[in-house]
Amino acid sequence: MATSRIPGRSEESPVIQRQSGPLARTTGKLLATQGYVVGVEISGSGTRQTVALANLEGKVLHTVRRPLNNAPDTRSVLQLIDAMIAEAAAPEHLQGGRILRVGVAVGGLVDARQGIVRRLHHAHEWNDFSLQDYMAERLEAPCIIDNNANAAALAEVEYGAISELENGNRRGELVALYIGLGRGIGGGLVVNGRIYHGISSTAGEIGHMLVKENGPKCSCGGSGHLEAIASAQTIVQSVLGLSSQYPETAEAIRQITGGRAERITAGQIFRLAADGDRAARQVVDEVQTYLGIALANIIHLINPGIIILGGPVAQAGDLLIAPLQARVTELCLREASEAVRIVQGKLGAEANIVGAITLALQDL
Ligand SMILES: [Zn+2]
Repeated sequence: MATSRIPGRSEESPVIQRQSGPLARTTGKLLATQGYVVGVEISGSGTRQTVALANLEGKVLHTVRRPLNNAPDTRSVLQLIDAMIAEAAAPEHLQGGRILRVGVAVGGLVDARQGIVRRLHHAHEWNDFSLQDYMAERLEAPCIIDNNANAAALAEVEYGAISELENGNRRGELVALYIGLGRGIGGGLVVNGRIYHGISSTAGEIGHMLVKENGPKCSCGGSGHLEAIASAQTIVQSVLGLSSQYPETAEAIRQITGGRAERITAGQIFRLAADGDRAARQVVDEVQTYLGIALANIIHLINPGIIILGGPVAQAGDLLIAPLQARVTELCLREASEAVRIVQGKLGAEANIVGAITLALQDL
């Protein structure tokens, strides 16, 4: 199946920097100025709620971003999103055009086919909520919802990591896996330009792969899952926990964070480990070990051409990626490991909202 590429989209820059004019799109059913899409990002923890208005070339025209202090219940998030939509898609922003499609990237378990949010692990009340119907009614336009890792995977394939590869013009033939290493760990698999959902939309839930029997407790209630070892939150908490036994680590963290230890990031912990800090090294080694096991198992199952790492942990860059690539070479069949490249995502913290827009633009 061919990818749904929109005529006039350039290959070089991510969607957020894309430039366009009224004449940029001269083929296809609609002119870029005749309509818009709305992208919505809802994070499971409440820390990121984003609404963006984009034109049909994917250029973001207006963005509204509001965090919540608490893990969101359905009502408070929807009230907030409603207000943000009213602001981002205000009539004066639409210049006579209308909203043609809405895409929503949700930080939780989503049944994409039925348009239902199954649950958000860190939040309340979302169980089996028909978000797709709600948003379609709210905006009087068709809506596509998906898990945020799936949306980010599609965005990286369309606009980010893949578009910069030498075989970018053949990305429709790629098997690409995106792994979002954030507060939780999510995965999105894009095969031939399409998100692979599996039978009940749980394909790619690699945060809940068992990698260490009887290992630490996971947010889902299980134990020894990848997310309980390698998520950004776990990495930070593990190092902060160990720092009570390692005065030099506590001092290093104090210096980096100006005394606000809780603000240390996973990327900074990878840097500390590279600089020889023993506690950070211990935590980072554990992450590399079990992430390596997870990747080796995934690679043997799906034989991907590219694995894109996103989320805060991926900010560690080569400190994360080079050892992982070596580990994959060590653990996998040569034919499998030679075919796969592990790269850092290009969209960074914007991956989810660009993903929501990319969902909305599919086949439009
Ligand atoms: Zn789990």
